[in-house]
Order: sequence, then structure tokens, then C-alpha cells
Amino acid sequence: MTELNDQQFDLEHLWHPYTSMTNPLPTFKVKKAYGATIELEDGRQLIDGMASWWCAIHGYNHPELNQAVINQLQNMSHIMFGGFTHDPAIQLGKLLLEITPPSLDKIFYADSGSVAVEVALKMAVQYWSSQGNIQKTNFVTPRSGYHGDTWNAMSVCDPVTGMHQIFGSSLPNRIFVPAPQVGFYDQWDQSDILELEKTLTEHHATIAALILEPIVQGAGGMRFYHPEYLHQAKLLCEKYNILLIFDEIATGFGRTGKLFAWEHAQVEPDIMCIGKGLTGGYMTLSATLTTKHVAETISRGEAGVFMHGPTFMANPLACAVAVRSIQLLTSQDWQSNILRIEQHLRQVLTPLQTLEYVQDVRVLGAIGVVELSFNVDMKTLQQEFVKRGIWIRPFGKLVYVMPPYVISEQQLKILLEQLVNVVKGMQEHIA
Ligand code: PMP
Repeated sequence: MTELNDQQFDLEHLWHPYTSMTNPLPTFKVKKAYGATIELEDGRQLIDGMASWWCAIHGYNHPELNQAVINQLQNMSHIMFGGFTHDPAIQLGKLLLEITPPSLDKIFYADSGSVAVEVALKMAVQYWSSQGNIQKTNFVTPRSGYHGDTWNAMSVCDPVTGMHQIFGSSLPNRIFVPAPQVGFYDQWDQSDILELEKTLTEHHATIAALILEPIVQGAGGMRFYHPEYLHQAKLLCEKYNILLIFDEIATGFGRTGKLFAWEHAQVEPDIMCIGKGLTGGYMTLSATLTTKHVAETISRGEAGVFMHGPTFMANPLACAVAVRSIQLLTSQDWQSNILRIEQHLRQVLTPLQTLEYVQDVRVLGAIGVVELSFNVDMKTLQQEFVKRGIWIRPFGKLVYVMPPYVISEQQLKILLEQLVNVVKGMQEHIA
């Protein structure tokens, strides 16, 4: 048997995200990454437009984040959180309470975004069952949402893009309302909330919580909606006794121009999930925060405890790097930096709107989205981007960027120029 080279081994044996094992998409082998640059094994350098799916906010190989990991490593990389506690977890907790909604008071550390969502959903169900209400076990959520790939997180993802039909009746049946239609910059229209109101009127007795991504629906369509939707949703939740869960896993840590997206509306949830940028993209860590009231209600219930406890809960290495990442972010004028990226994105991407096959161009904070009128061929487009020295991973009709905040003006210029050239070049293939 001939030995496989590394690339062949990868193709043959390693599953990549959302990829076929019989017809896998090509992968590019990375040697190292620093700042907003990704260096491939063959020496090619790519300007990063993805921040590794929202998380590498300070770029790669950051000396201060590296040092935080090294320092912690010399004490301990991990210790069980059952019965023990440690400085990184405590320091991180203090920082999180300073930067998240004032009414959130209790923190549950988990190991990934999806698990943070599972924890939030479980908290909601336990909150009601602790009060003897065992009817309120379901969830309502807007379409076009995305909350992760584990079982219950998946159940509240958009049923079409989340391909619920593959899993059939094994997936719990959730209640879906139409995605918010009024855009972030549009004039509010009260009709946008009517379906949610109607649904809650009918089903509130069985609904534990409304879960949504505030302001930006990410992987379910990169849609930016009106802050008033959150106001109205909160009022309805209060009226119908339903908890409100914000999934800020993608929107957190400055990405939308606010530290967290709830600030656009000043609406506080009962439960909030954070992850991704929490560790500056260094390690997997997430947290689910809730109010004193929810936590105490759960603790008064029959079980007397919250029924979750992952092995890697509050992993010290991850907490230590998260502490440094938050300090790094909040100690600089990050608002002006996000504004710099936002203005650049708007200036360069908006003119694409005139192309007849571009359906929409939208920008919010350090997120720029070009929505086409057709699904892109990811494989071809990805190769084209790499040929031009940039890293962008489109999906469906969307070509979008959310670069690391450390991206320089020059890098941003090249990233966007090349994106624009590729989108304009599509004209020939369509004509
Ligand atoms: N919620 C949102 C809004 C997300 O964007 C993601 C990740 N794309 C998740 C949850 C799941 O996070 P993870 O991939 O870390 O499980």
C-alpha cells in the first residue's frame, strides 16, 4: 500500500465542517497565522476576511494573548470545576459582569457555543419545572436563525437552512415565527411583530422561552434587523410569561459596533449566551449568563441544582486567555476601530448594489455582506479568492467578511478590492 501524503490523508480521513467525505471540498494547509495574515504551507499569504468564523478578533498569534496562555500553562492547564475554583474563572467572571447586561448576575461556563445554547434551553425548562410548571417545555424562535449544531441548538435553527428534514422526527418540534423583515436602518413597522404576538397568544402555555440572535442573524442568512423588534419581543415575553434568551455568540465583543448587540436596543434578556470572540479565538470557551431570579428559581426546584456540568467547564487556560482578550479589547478605543472598518466596508461594498445580480449590500459594524441573486459555487469561488491572496468563505448567496479588528487599512483595501473584483467578474459567467 502506498503511503498517503498529508493532503491525501486529510482528504481521505479528516472530516471538515459541512463537507462530504466522498466529494470533499479542497482544503488549504496553513503553516501559521499572525495578525490578519494566514500563511499557507507553500508560502502564500492570505489576508483574513473571516476572523475564523467571528472569533479571532485580535488577529492570530497575538503576543499578549500568547503570554496569557504561557503564564497559565505554568500553573495548570486544567482542573475540574466540580469542587475547585481558580483565579482565571473568577477574574473572567468579574469582567463579564462588568460588560454584560446589568440584570445578568450568574455565569455558567461551557465549552462551545452550541453547548452554551443547550445550557440556556435547559435553564429555561428547569426554571418553569422548578415552579411546578411542566407544560412550558417548548421554544419559539424566528426563522433564519442559527444557534449551533448540537441536538437542541439545531432544533431552534432555521428549519430549511438547518435541514431539519434530514433528521425527521428525531428532532424536537419547535415553534417558528417569520424572520424579522424590517432592516436595521429601515423605519420600524409594527406589523413585523404581529406573527410573534399571534403565536405567543396561542402557544404561550407550552413555551419556556423565545430564543433569538439580537440584531444580526448570522449563519442563517447574515440579516440585520430593527432594534425595535427586540423591544416588542421583550414586552410580549413579559406579557405571556416567557423567558427571553439572547444568543450573542456571534454578535459579542464589539463586532456590531456595540460591545454586545443588545445595547442597540437596550433590551436585557433573562438568559444570554456568549462564545467565539470570548477567548479572542484562542480556545473554545462559552458562557451562559442569567439573572439572580432565574438562577434562584432553578435552585429552589425539586432537583435543587442546575443539571449540567461539562468536564472542561471553566478551563483555566481558556479563562486566562479570555481575561486578557477582554482587557485588550476594552483598554483600547475599539469603537473608533470598528467604525474605521465599518466606513471602509460601506464605501467599497455599497457600489456593488448597482450590479443586477447583487440583491443587497449591507454593513453593520465590522460585518460586510454582499447578497447575490444565486447560490455561489463555493469551491470555485474559494479557489479564486485564495489565488488573489484573500481568505473569504462564502455560503449560499452570501459573500461576506468580518475581519479581525487588527486588520490594517492597506490589508482591508486589498481584501475588499479583490472581493469586489471577484463579484464583478461573475458578470461574465452569468451573461
Ligand atoms: N450561536 C451562534 C449565533 C453562532 O453563530 C454559533 C456558531 N457559528 C453557535 C451558536 C455555535 O457555536 P459553536 O460552533 O462554538 O458550537
